[in-house]
Amino acid sequence: MPSADFNCKQCGNCCLNLSGAIDVCATEKDIRRWEENDRADILAWVEVISLGKGHNIYDIWINPTTGDDVNRCPWLRKLPGKDKYICRIQDMKPEHCRNYPLSREHAEKTGCPGFE
Ligand code: SF4
Ligand code: SF4
Repeated sequence: MPSADFNCKQCGNCCLNLSGAIDVCATEKDIRRWEENDRADILAWVEVISLGKGHNIYDIWINPTTGDDVNRCPWLRKLPGKDKYICRIQDMKPEHCRNYPLSREHAEKTGCPGFE
């Protein structure tokens, strides 16, 4: 996660436009954390793609009903009456979300106002 001059504005841009910002895959660590915490609700939105020899890609977020990729994260919640958003799985969110944006440049390229 970025330096001290970064301040998340809770604008939701990164979570409303997943394909343009956050890497849309989970890590092995994420999967283990969700399994250990019985988060079947989160795991239901993960598609496991086998690469063979025990290697997988964990594609997120995939609508469990339709099988489609979603561009707006299902865990994003708009605060009532405000133009601000929160993550409903803050303590469980994927590593890529924790690490976003990777740098000032990454923020600027992907529409994150956190350094402004
Ligand atoms: S785009 Fe940047 S400022 Fe907006 S919610 Fe995401 S991390 Fe925070
Ligand atoms: S899990 Fe949370 S931080 Fe990650 S994209 Fe969804 S709402 Fe945003």
